[in-house]
Amino acid sequence: MDNLTNINVIKDIFERHGFTFSKALGQNFIINPAICPKIAEMGNAKKGFGIIEIGTGVGVLTNELAKRADKVVAVEIDTRLIPILEETLSEYDNVTVINADVMKTDLKAVIEEHFGGLDVAVCANLPYYITSPIIMYLLESRLPIRSITVMVQKEAGVRLCAKPGSRECGAVTAAVHYYAEPKLLFNVSRGSFMPAPNVDSCVIRLDIRETPPVSVSDEKYFFRLVRGAFSQRRKNLANSLSSSMAIPKSDVINAIRAAGLSENIRPEQLTLQQFADVAKQLSSLITGDKNNEDKHTEA
Ligand code: SAM
Repeated sequence: MDNLTNINVIKDIFERHGFTFSKALGQNFIINPAICPKIAEMGNAKKGFGIIEIGTGVGVLTNELAKRADKVVAVEIDTRLIPILEETLSEYDNVTVINADVMKTDLKAVIEEHFGGLDVAVCANLPYYITSPIIMYLLESRLPIRSITVMVQKEAGVRLCAKPGSRECGAVTAAVHYYAEPKLLFNVSRGSFMPAPNVDSCVIRLDIRETPPVSVSDEKYFFRLVRGAFSQRRKNLANSLSSSMAIPKSDVINAIRAAGLSENIRPEQLTLQQFADVAKQLSSLITGDKNNEDKHTEA
């Protein structure tokens, strides 16, 4: 169904199905007809591609994806939308809707089951209450995908696409740059949605890297350190790491210095490589201390 940005059409569908918006599920549906074709085109929805969509709403983006890609699998948590989607997507035989929470969905299995032989990309207008967890879930699952193109709240988009070492940077920025090359594609005003949220939005694309830009021997420790570094934004790196990772401040300072950095450096000033250097120094310092302790205990 093509006219899903027409308010009268949407109102008619909602009335017939007794549907009302759920704020808790982040339901702000796109009513600006220019947006979804743009997301689909810039998000790799084309021949040879299978697309995973997260959160269909009434299927306004799903329609544009189904027109262009070979196959679309859409994951929607709200059971009330399923009969609506049966109606609005009825002309497509290349769409499968899965009624589930995306955070509990095994997307690797979905890709294997539905997208044999196709390149895969993710496209979505994300529910804003859960933007970062969904993006991190997609990245950390190491899915065999080419890109993630998503609408997010403007401030979140700026943070996700910020350059590590810049003021807007947060823990999620470092993680995104580790797995992908992020790009801010275009801004979207709040009036493009029904109901209108009280924030503006933007569309970003994360092109998945084949190999990370820095070499890290223990990824788990690296990300624990990055999260710890940003957990107390007003503190400098030494204080944040010391309290969040429960390591004596003197050890943290030694590791920061050994990585060639000033002990007063703030987390948002570090590049990805510098985080990797601090992680390496800190873990070898702690392992060294631990080995020494063991030696003393054995002696
Ligand atoms: N794609 C539609 C559009 O652009 O109009 C709807 C976007 S709306 C911002 C977010 C959608 O995600 C809603 O349909 C909501 O029900 C769904 N959603 C919220 N949490 C979800 C979750 N954990 N898993 C899957 N879908 C979810």
